[in-house]
Amino acid sequence: MSARIGVLALQGDTREHLAALGAAGAEPLTVRRRAELDSVDALVIPGGESTTMSHLLREFDLLEPLRARLADGMPAYGSCAGMILLASEILDAGAAGREATPLKAIDMTVRRNAFGRQVDSFEEDLEFGGLDSGVHAVFIRAPVVNRVGGGVRVLASLVDGRPVAARQDRILATAFHPELTEASRVHQLFVSIVDGSH
Ligand code: GLN
Repeated sequence: MSARIGVLALQGDTREHLAALGAAGAEPLTVRRRAELDSVDALVIPGGESTTMSHLLREFDLLEPLRARLADGMPAYGSCAGMILLASEILDAGAAGREATPLKAIDMTVRRNAFGRQVDSFEEDLEFGGLDSGVHAVFIRAPVVNRVGGGVRVLASLVDGRPVAARQDRILATAFHPELTEASRVHQLFVSIVDGSH
């Protein structure tokens, strides 16, 4: 039986991730409640706004249960805001009381909105470890990875060397949005991480 992969559906581009997972052969479910979180084998955290998602995770009493599932080894993939949340440390996390809260699933430090206003959004073709050809990466008010721990493998970097995709065990994170451009190849990689074939 194929794994049950959820998409956190509190805020952000949930629909695009559901479509990309569907195209990758999974039958994704939306996750908004504790029972839904308990019922999935793996979770995608979409792009959106990490401060808002953190706030809603608290409001929906999902923050600690989600941390517990991740600590317990649940595979997860986060794009952009999702990558921010999966990190162990967040720089420029937002206004006091409304900060983005790290779920600490992957040992790395990320900086929110790392590209400033001038280059708010941009696109770049990147090599991506684990895929046979590069990806067209769309960055939208994207974070960047500042530090990775020893167990983290960098899968993609910008030309200046800054990491923008990483994996630690069964946690995958991209600063960009493959759900918008890539049909499903990065999601396929995640599905194979979930089913243990990659
Ligand atoms: N800047 C957003 C944040 O801090 C992320 C943007 C995105 O997901 N496209 O959460």
